Amino acid sequence: MCEFCTKHGEGKKWYEIMEHYSMELLKDPGRKAYIEQFVSNIRNNSMDNFGKLQWVKNKAPLAHRFIKKIVTAHLKKYHFGQVIPIEDAESIVENVQSITRIPCICRSVTAGKNNARYCLLLGIDPTGLNIDWPELKTSFEVLVPADAKKILRVFDRQGLVHSIWTFKTPFIGAICNCDRDCLAYKYQISADLTDIMFKSEYVAQIDRDLCIGCRSCMSFCQFGAVEYSIADGKCHINPHKCYGCGVCRNACKKQAIKLTDKQISS
Ligand code: SF4
Ligand code: SF4
Ligand code: SF4
Repeated sequence: MCEFCTKHGEGKKWYEIMEHYSMELLKDPGRKAYIEQFVSNIRNNSMDNFGKLQWVKNKAPLAHRFIKKIVTAHLKKYHFGQVIPIEDAESIVENVQSITRIPCICRSVTAGKNNARYCLLLGIDPTGLNIDWPELKTSFEVLVPADAKKILRVFDRQGLVHSIWTFKTPFIGAICNCDRDCLAYKYQISADLTDIMFKSEYVAQIDRDLCIGCRSCMSFCQFGAVEYSIADGKCHINPHKCYGCGVCRNACKKQAIKLTDKQISS
């Protein structure tokens, strides 16, 4: 069980508690203001902040470690992500009040892709947000759960990692579907500047009897968790690196990869 389940989960996985997606939480005017301010900040400042943190890390590693702790604690309180496998993403979209597919803010900022619609807003109406972002108001699509599930499956087959995101924790307002253009990936995995996207409640394992060592799964893993062993000509998963996203399963024609629930196995 992770720290978020311990704090917000009432004995379950914390994101299975449907109050965390509720209109009551969303009606808090402070939350709407936070979302608006957060989006503007990402659009205007995220790459500058990335450069500044990178500079501090290079010039003063000890100061960076201290800043990283403070920033990570702040993010856990206001806006963080947790990786979830496709099965849990499907279960969430079955149960939320509304699903709106919108353009991805990270891909817009980091790669200039202004209409890459990889984000699913949960409960939040983008037309009600006072944000200077034309694509958000013109390029959204309200989805029924069945269509959201189909889209999630397509993303999964493409190897995109699913994650839930809070806006003033514990409210969960989005399911994201990310590649290496994701700001969280750049901040956390590429540059190790801060922690913002946490591991899932699962870990992957490869059945050595089924694995034929084709290595197809290696390129699917954004976290470098699949390793090849020359000794036996098979792949295995490093549990310390695995984020439990499960997308590597799409690559395996031998169905050799399984996700294990950490809550059950612990
Ligand atoms: S977290 Fe992923 S889907 Fe969401 S805005 Fe960033 S890259 Fe896009
Ligand atoms: S894709 Fe499957 S069979 Fe191929 S190396 Fe990975 S686990 Fe083994
Ligand atoms: S090895 Fe782990 S982190 Fe990598 S793709 Fe598979 S489940 Fe995701």
